[in-house]
Amino acid sequence: MFENLSSQPADELLGLIKLFHIDPRQNKLDLGVGVYKDEHGQTPVMHAVKLAEEMLLRDQKTKSYLGPEGDLRFVQLLQPIVFGDEALGDRVCGIQTTGGSGALRVAGDLLLRADPSSRLWISAPTWPNHRPIFSACGLQVLDYPYFDTASQKILFDEMLETLSKARRGDAVVLHGACHNPSGADLNHAQWDAVIALCAERGLLPLFDLAYQGLGEGLDEDAYGVRKAVGELDEVMIAQSCDKNFALYRERTGALFVVGRNRDAIASNLAACARTIWSMPPDHGAATVRLVLESAELALLWREELAGMRARINAVRMRVAEVEPSLAFVGLQRGLFSNLALSPEAAQWLRDEHGVYLSRSGRINVAGLRVGDAEQFTRSLRAIGYV
Ligand code: PLP
Repeated sequence: MFENLSSQPADELLGLIKLFHIDPRQNKLDLGVGVYKDEHGQTPVMHAVKLAEEMLLRDQKTKSYLGPEGDLRFVQLLQPIVFGDEALGDRVCGIQTTGGSGALRVAGDLLLRADPSSRLWISAPTWPNHRPIFSACGLQVLDYPYFDTASQKILFDEMLETLSKARRGDAVVLHGACHNPSGADLNHAQWDAVIALCAERGLLPLFDLAYQGLGEGLDEDAYGVRKAVGELDEVMIAQSCDKNFALYRERTGALFVVGRNRDAIASNLAACARTIWSMPPDHGAATVRLVLESAELALLWREELAGMRARINAVRMRVAEVEPSLAFVGLQRGLFSNLALSPEAAQWLRDEHGVYLSRSGRINVAGLRVGDAEQFTRSLRAIGYV
């Protein structure tokens, strides 16, 4: 049986981690894997999270099953962060998921349950796991143009033109903020236009909100989501707490679905979850719940998140200042920017200059300290990129 299997390509970024660790050079830079790092190059557990974990360890009385929906109090407490203060009442239902990835998978499965001929559009370029996740659901996955790496411009007219030809009922994945890999987000006028197009053409937005709070702010990064919820009958939001609570391996997230027919949506969400992970892991969601239930811990979390965001944006500003031809890095948001580098140039940077980045030219800006900007831009100059 298994002799029929062919080997799958190794994950490039995981391979980079190993190479980085065995590289003896002191001044090597890790811009590969997409996690936040502080000025010491660490990805620490947030203080608010540590305090909540201590409470959890002390007070948790049982580890009995919660059900396929997971911790619904956690889901409820996330709602004002995602949707703002306006109560959506019966218009929304949500389920705890295994991170943002799990939320995307359940969203895809739900679309297919609602309509077996569902199609879904993703941006070109996008997070490399989008297509495999949605294809695995059985959806037909199509691309819309989004970003041109050579000019560092959003291809907004091309995006609208392509989506204006989409079929009524098609779903469209939109990065809520901190577009991965480009760091280039829509401005308010562009969000308004995309959402107006969704209304006119009957398209269903599926927001991937994996980095809320790491761009401009928790509220600012939810502009598109909130606008869509205000204008459209049906919207889906895949939310991750893995980045903005730095819970990565705890796999913490939620899927929200706005739409009529709430009870049927909720029961189908639970049925989808039941066939994938049956019940989600508890620790991350319980920790976030405890943070958000405590005014003190919630404030501490917001302050720590603001500090992370300020650090990323300070690095961006510094890179742009040191090398004016990289001004776009200062304007983009979130962990990533995508340089127009060939795979050979990316390897050259790694081999000759100890700068580790993806073969696609994507860099994790949070892998730099503010003081690394000179070394980084010097390396780019040495290979003739700037
Ligand atoms: N969506 C995007 C755009 C991402 O970049 C990522 C993670 O890198 C995810 C979703 C998945 O996040 P999680 O780790 O919560 O599954």
